[in-house]
Amino acid sequence: MTYDPNNIFARILRGEIPNKTAYEDEYALAFHDINPQTPTHVLVIPKGAYVSFADFSAKASDAEVLGFFRAVGKVAKDLGADEPGYRILANHGRDAHQEVPHFHVHIFAGTNLGRMIKPADR
Ligand code: 5GP
Repeated sequence: MTYDPNNIFARILRGEIPNKTAYEDEYALAFHDINPQTPTHVLVIPKGAYVSFADFSAKASDAEVLGFFRAVGKVAKDLGADEPGYRILANHGRDAHQEVPHFHVHIFAGTNLGRMIKPADR
């Protein structure tokens, strides 16, 4: 899949659409999800143009991968989620219901998250 520079997160990165920013540095932007699934639900996205986790893990530079995942950990910590805990999740592709074609990690926190995932009804 080729990167669509007009996807919603690309537009957020360009400042064309407002967001509730939790953190920003050279490699990553973190902002609160518009439709939170848990009391704390933050998205962390790389600044580079990567469609999905597969694209990011294959093509991002070492510095981008390191900077991005350091940012995810920092955001979770700064949200106060290290204790009692949080979940990170990245959807890739159709079966995972990825909606936005710019790689992002969800941070879910603020409640008991249950165990792992529940299969979708088919
Ligand atoms: P996905 O299913 O692609 O992993 O998740 C995309 C997420 O982006 C969803 O949780 C959705 O609520 C969130 N989202 C979609 N559009 C916007 C937006 O314009 N602003 C923010 N803050 N979140 C968005």
